[in-house]
Amino acid sequence: MKIFKLVDTFTPDGFYLTQSYGVNPSYYSKFGLLYHEGVDVGHKNKTQPVRACHDGECLTNYSNAYGRYVILLDYEQLYATWYCHLSRAKVVNGQRVGAGEIIGNMGSTGNSTGPHVHFNFVQIDKNGYRLYKTKQSNYGFLDPQHPLDPQRPKFPPGVPEYKIEWKKGGSMPDELKECLKAHSTLMAKIKRLEEEIKEWKEITKKAEDERDKLRETLKREVEASKTRIDEEKKRYKSFVQKVAEKLGSSQQEPEILEEITRLVQSEDKIPSLEKENQTLKEALEKKGKQVVVKKDEVHQSKLCRWLAKHGF
Ligand SMILES: [Zn+2]
Repeated sequence: MKIFKLVDTFTPDGFYLTQSYGVNPSYYSKFGLLYHEGVDVGHKNKTQPVRACHDGECLTNYSNAYGRYVILLDYEQLYATWYCHLSRAKVVNGQRVGAGEIIGNMGSTGNSTGPHVHFNFVQIDKNGYRLYKTKQSNYGFLDPQHPLDPQRPKFPPGVPEYKIEWKKGGSMPDELKECLKAHSTLMAKIKRLEEEIKEWKEITKKAEDERDKLRETLKREVEASKTRIDEEKKRYKSFVQKVAEKLGSSQQEPEILEEITRLVQSEDKIPSLEKENQTLKEALEKKGKQVVVKKDEVHQSKLCRWLAKHGF
């Protein structure tokens, strides 16, 4: 038994059955047929795209009965499917299409009472001519046994039994293909971004480590500076004390007084030593010396050296 494998591109696209194969013999006798020679399917969208049910070669034409139609021929497995009453065909003669490709749009051209697709199934010879073309076998228009048509298969006299296996789920609609393509592009983008984020995280981690290290160094330096400043203050205090003692013991040298003056002047640089500076001022005033205010600054180490030289 011959088995033909087709793809149901109607069910996933929302088509529904409007007329079965093999019905209304009285009506179709007007056309010399035994009964309805195909399956009719409708759609709420009057110009719904129609898709190929298998790979094949296209033949398109117009007739009073079928209107605008596309015949899809499979020369390897020797059968053809017809898609009739189309509003337009989207293929040209001789064009090869794959299952699921749009071949036209539903319409109501030719002998039709409203928008629908009339679907025929025929077996052909290797030249594309229809087989079993006798009146008793309904001119070779065979039962498509379509999933949308619940009727039992009909095998007209002279037509050997055959089987059509309709693949479920049908073809992937172009819109879905586009969606999947967009999805995979997006996924690739996300992957790239995730990698970038990972890189940035590593960079951030490095920067944070560096920052923590610097903070630690800075903390140590600040501590060291504090210690240094405290030592300086201590030394300065002791020098000031020595100077005050020397002044109190009657030894006076103009140079010492001058330096002391400068020292007093620098009090705004070490405000915490105001008290000591006050003591010096008072000591100087007691000796009847006026404090001469000069604008130049005293470098402490210079002062220290000078004081040491003069025996403080
Ligand atoms: Zn029909």
